[in-house]
Amino acid sequence: MQESLTKFVFLNHQIKGEIIQVNKVFEEFTVHKNYPQPVKKILGELFIATNLMAATLKFKGKITTQIQGNGPLNLAVINTTNNFINKGTARYDTKLIKKDMSFKQLLGDAQLIVSIEPDQGEKYQGVIALDKDSLSDCIKQYFLQSEQIDTDLIIRVDANINNLAGILLQKLPSNSDSDITTDLNSFEHVLTLANTIKNDEIFELSPNDILYRLFNQEKVKVFESEAISFNCGCSQDKSDTVVRSLGLEEANKILSEQGKISIICEYCGKEYYFDKDKIEQLFISH
Ligand SMILES: [Zn+2]
Repeated sequence: MQESLTKFVFLNHQIKGEIIQVNKVFEEFTVHKNYPQPVKKILGELFIATNLMAATLKFKGKITTQIQGNGPLNLAVINTTNNFINKGTARYDTKLIKKDMSFKQLLGDAQLIVSIEPDQGEKYQGVIALDKDSLSDCIKQYFLQSEQIDTDLIIRVDANINNLAGILLQKLPSNSDSDITTDLNSFEHVLTLANTIKNDEIFELSPNDILYRLFNQEKVKVFESEAISFNCGCSQDKSDTVVRSLGLEEANKILSEQGKISIICEYCGKEYYFDKDKIEQLFISH
């Protein structure tokens, strides 16, 4: 499987689309956490949805999606960029999670907060209720509500083997210069075709082969695939800064109570620890 996002556009309809496939990146993303399968599945769905949403942005910046609810899974966050560099995490109550819980049972009363942060310009936020049976239905609602754009998403996740994939289809605004019109029928037609994709096809085939398999009767232009990656952003330097900001007195206090200062990255699980020698060095060199 490739780890990429590929955009495409129909030349005979005013419709554009994206395909995403992820495997190793999600493994890296979750390997240090012992997520229960239902949690991992929703985090995987949110991962796919967020990257598909990021690919619709027309500027450089970041997008964060956050599920907040009162169910056993009470928080799931994915943060990605216009270059598809991802980090994210989930919080949940292990004792309350059962294997076959539905989307609604896991989340309880929940909402999805979408924060979009352009590198240049104002940050903005949208909130939608997670009151439908699947995340993709809720995201469809988000596009309709916030951008008045007809959008459909297919999200497939096999959390056991870290296979994630998705397809987004979106109607383009009608263009008066163009003689191509997209009535609802042609959008429905394309959606019907897209929904015939089987899991083994969307997980195993290349983006080009998937598009051929689905739309070989249509005229589709495919753009170059873009890589998906994981980067939590933690580093020794950043951890040093955190410890320095405590001040020597506070650092020594923690040291005497706990024997060391430990900073654990919540995204990758890496531990940065500071013993007496390291702390002395840190405060001498600055
Ligand atoms: Zn990290």
